[in-house]
Amino acid sequence: MSRAIVLNKDNDRFSAEVRDLSDAELAAGAPDTDVTVAVDYSTVNYKDGLALTNTSPVVRKWPMVAGIDAAGTVHESSNAQWAKGTAVVINGWGMGETHWGGLTQRARVKGDWLIGLPHSLSTKQAMAIGTAGYTAMLCCLALEDLGVTPGSGELLVTGASGGVGSIAISILAEWGHRVVASTGKRQEENYLRSLGASTVIDRAELSAAGKPLQKERWVGVVDSVGSHTLANACAQTRYGGVVTACGLAQGMDLPMTVAPLILRAVRLIGVDSVQCPSARRRQAWARLARDLDRAKLEAITRVVPLSEAFAIARAILAGENRGRVVVDVNR
Ligand code: NDP
Repeated sequence: MSRAIVLNKDNDRFSAEVRDLSDAELAAGAPDTDVTVAVDYSTVNYKDGLALTNTSPVVRKWPMVAGIDAAGTVHESSNAQWAKGTAVVINGWGMGETHWGGLTQRARVKGDWLIGLPHSLSTKQAMAIGTAGYTAMLCCLALEDLGVTPGSGELLVTGASGGVGSIAISILAEWGHRVVASTGKRQEENYLRSLGASTVIDRAELSAAGKPLQKERWVGVVDSVGSHTLANACAQTRYGGVVTACGLAQGMDLPMTVAPLILRAVRLIGVDSVQCPSARRRQAWARLARDLDRAKLEAITRVVPLSEAFAIARAILAGENRGRVVVDVNR
């Protein structure tokens, strides 16, 4: 038996509960899998918030074990690549959406989806990073690949106090960048400065409709907010700058013109974590292991038991989340 958060829809009636799953149920619920992971920790991301509260159609198969992330050790494996006892991290690939997910004590997955946990990271630290932190690193790597170098100017991070934002600030500051944090939580100014932000601005400066081209300020952007915020970020980006877009906390729309792209050669780069190829994932996790300040990671993280995931989900959707929440699935 293993305990899991199970979501279900019966005649359009949504239910979400913590319950025990037998090994037979687990095998039946996760077909075409070759590895069982004994999960130590999972986490609650924005997408988990949507799924746990049935706010948008994240889950496409019922019943579903929630959770897009997990970290633990290989418990059983018929995949030659993965030996019992190996520490692993897994995220995306449809976990918690089309495939049973990580908010559980045991997860059945495809070995091809697993990433070996870098030795310097614990399973708890891996989930403190989670999809949010790994996506922040994907954004930072895109900026680096496209030539945004430390010392070249200010970088903007939106949704700054959230999971993606907090970790993006930590990474970029560690890399020597000057980071401006945009937040709706002015009370978190000290928190954002402690992560490495040199300036904190009110997100109201970016969240309303603005002109197609505005005063040039940013050499690079990590945006997890979308909508007018992303449009204004592009409109304020300097000639040849790079804007990475990964989220939609303000909205899915993008009310902008092509002016920043065609008159200032601004590069707008989409970032996806779910189908990201394994080689890029390994690179991201290796850089997180190398570059992410552990004291900062600890400072942005809370640990909660499985049953508290629902309350965290509601707080995330209310825009109240700060930093990262790790779920101890064995508590
Ligand atoms: P969090 O809930 O931790 O953080 C989101 C932050 O966005 C909030 O803390 C808040 O920060 C800000 N925010 C919330 N509501 C609004 C609003 N109405 N207008 C403007 N800002 C708002 O979520 P995550 O950091 O985990 O995820 C952020 C986004 O990134 C989500 O949309 C998520 O789906 C997406 N994402 C996408 C991935 C991908 O593969 N592309 C992977 C991971 C995440 P503040 O108060 O500081 O302004």
